[in-house]
Order: sequence, then C-alpha cells, then structure tokens
Amino acid sequence: MSQALPTEWDAIVCGASFGGLAAASQLGGRVLMIDSGEIGDGETSASAVPVACLENLDLMHTAEQLHDDIVVHTARHAQTLDFFPYATFDYRSFCRSFFEHSDARFLRARVQSASEGVVATSKGRFESPVVIDATGWRTAAQAARKKRARVTRRSFGLESRQPYVGDGLHFYVGGGRRNRRFYWVFPAGDHVRAGLATYSGESSLSPELSEFLGDLDLGSPGHTHGGFFTSRLGEPIRDSAFVVGDAAGHCLPVTGEGIRPALVYGQIAGRLAELARRGDLTLPEALSRYRAVVRSHSRGYRILDRLQVVLGRLPDPMFEGFGRYVASERFQPWARRVYWKVADPDLLTAEPSLEPLPPAALGERSAIDPRPTA
Ligand SMILES: Cc1cc2nc3c(=O)[nH]c(=O)nc-3n(C[C@H](O)[C@H](O)[C@H](O)COP(=O)(O)OP(=O)(O)OC[C@H]3O[C@@H](n4cnc5c(N)ncnc54)[C@H](O)[C@@H]3O)c2cc1C
Repeated sequence: MSQALPTEWDAIVCGASFGGLAAASQLGGRVLMIDSGEIGDGETSASAVPVACLENLDLMHTAEQLHDDIVVHTARHAQTLDFFPYATFDYRSFCRSFFEHSDARFLRARVQSASEGVVATSKGRFESPVVIDATGWRTAAQAARKKRARVTRRSFGLESRQPYVGDGLHFYVGGGRRNRRFYWVFPAGDHVRAGLATYSGESSLSPELSEFLGDLDLGSPGHTHGGFFTSRLGEPIRDSAFVVGDAAGHCLPVTGEGIRPALVYGQIAGRLAELARRGDLTLPEALSRYRAVVRSHSRGYRILDRLQVVLGRLPDPMFEGFGRYVASERFQPWARRVYWKVADPDLLTAEPSLEPLPPAALGERSAIDPRPTA
C-alpha cells in the first residue's frame, strides 16, 4: 500500500495514540499519520481522564463509566477526594472515533528516524516541513536524541482487566506494601482495570499484581497490559519537530496521568503547526511558541517531579500520611487549581480550530520561561 502514497506531505504525525491523534485533529492539508500498529490496537493505560476531555472532544460516547469519586486508601483510612469528575473510556473506540475528526491518511509502518523534515520508516521515506513526534516513551529518532535530550525518567505500570464492577477511581498507598509503588482499581462498565506502577521503572510486577488482586478478592490476573510512561518534562522540540505526549515527557509525575497532557499539548502543537502550514507563522516561530507554552508549565511539572522523588523514598507510615494529606481539605483547592492548569482540558476542541491558544503561544513574552531544557 505504501507505494501508492506520495512522498511529500504538508504534515507528518508519527504515532497514532493520544498525542498524535490530538495533533492531527487540528491540521489541515495533506497529513500522513504513521504508527507501527493499527489505530486503537495498542492499549497500554487504564484509560481514565477528566470528563471534560471527552466532553470537549465530543467523544463522550466512548466513555465506559463516569466517576464522581476518587478514593485514596491507606492501611487504616479510605478518604474521598473532592476532585473533578473522571471517566474511564474504551481505548479502541476513542482512538478510532478521534481519528475520524481528522482528514489524515494512515500508514502502518515503523518510524526509524524523524529529523529535519525527513521521516524514515519501514515502508519508505516521507518528507514534510511539519513533523510531529508523538511516538510515546520510546520516541522515534532515538539516535539523534541520545546526544541532546536530557534523560526522561520512566515509571512502569502493569494492569489487568478483571470481571468485577464498582464505583469511583480507587488508589491504594502505603498500608504495609512496598514503597515506590502505587496501586489502583478503575471500574469501567462491565470490568475493572486494576494495576500497580513503580516510579523506579522496575518492570517485573506480575507477582505483585497477583498479590494485590488476591488481597482485594478480585481473582487472578486475566489479560494484562502496561508499559513505561515518562515522569519528567523533556525537550518539546527536536530536530525541527514538535514533540508531544510521552515523547516529550508530558505525563504528569506523581499520578502518572499522561492522557490529558498528551491531548492538550497535542492539540496546541497541531494548531501552531497549522499556522505554519498556512504561512501565518514561519516554522521556527511556530516551534518556538510551542516550546514557550510547554515551558510556561515547567514550574508545575517541577513541583510534581520533586514530590515524586520524595514519595519514592518515603517509608510506609509517612506515605500513608501523604495519602491523608492529599485527601484533606487543605490540599484540595491547590490541587484543583494547579493540577488542572498544567494541562488545561478547556483548551481542547472537537473541531479543528486555531483557538484557543494559551498566552505563551501568542508570543506574550511574560509567559515565556527562556531557559533551555536540554
Ligand atoms: C499501566 C498504565 C496505566 C496508565 N493509566 C493511565 C490513566 O488511567 N490515565 C492517564 O491519563 N494516563 C495513564 N497512563 C499513562 C498514559 O498511558 C501515557 O501517558 C499516554 O499513553 C501517552 O500518550 P502518547 O500519545 O504520548 O503515547 P502512547 O500512548 O504511548 O502512544 C505512542 C504511539 O506511538 C506508536 N509508536 C511508538 N514507536 C513507534 C515507531 N517507532 N513507529 C511507529 N509508531 C510508533 C505506538 O504504537 C503508539 O500508538 C498509564 C500508563 C500505564 C503504563
């Protein structure tokens, strides 16, 4: 099939998951989207997002269950957070419906490198002035990156679908379990997704998953999936490409919430790339404004980053104390404000739109943090 495809495109999007689909949804012209798997086949996550993301993208029909409550469990307490409502959704139908929001052509191929407008794949070479790298934690042009990008810290998560039902998103911390892990049970209609993650990136978690499920009487692990996810902000521009989602370390430290940032930064990158495609901005201007947007949130990321480092080292009793603090009235207003704004779902739109863009994307210098990230 690839022989029939032209070599030159207005934009090329590498990676057809959250970040790539969000970017493509904002691009006009001839857009090529490339992924090594079929769209919607590579589920790695528990697929929970703030309901506002699905609403604003007009993808509510992909929701499996809505959750008003987030419950943090420690050994002796279970406390409900007064947070924003979340939804668990079906990854495959989300990705396929979202892809229909764009006019992109899809090519199933492995991206080998993406540099200076040239994307080399297992099915040939393609060129475009606009390249968006949304290939997740592995990233497409690893060889080039190794030289310049600072190392993005990686967490690892593993989860299983279990045939149980429930309400609310449940997190489990402390309680005599080993440090540097957090556990969850997310109901999703006719099943729950239950898993655990390590901040250290340690990945042999099957025995602990079985133990966790056994403790909660959720049976033995069924179909499992998972993988690495990033937890430190990386460089948002590489080799003249916009880098979005886990490829740029957008996944939020502490919670491992990476879908919302991939969607938000994906659409912002897509809008700025579209302005470049139309000739309203030069490509260097569009790239530098994208970088400014990401950097304007670096403080929020830094705070979460440091918190994650501390949490990874806390002994159990203190970890429990943290769980209680997160659930407390004192912490909630800060969490709602800062945690929401770091990747604001109100910037998401269902239709292609050159708005909304945050101040830093409009070239308002007060919002720009000019320090280099690499
Ligand atoms: C167990 C687990 C549970 C999680 N639960 C949640 C959750 O409930 N909520 C949440 O917000 N976040 C969650 N996360 C984090 C979230 O999954 C990631 O942050 C998010 O998927 C990042 O999206 P992305 O589009 O940047 O990258 P990805 O979703 O990783 O997508 C990358 C895409 O690029 C493709 N690709 C990669 N390399 C190549 C290549 N060389 N050539 C072609 N294609 C390529 C892949 O096939 C894939 O489709 C979880 C993570 C894990 C591991």
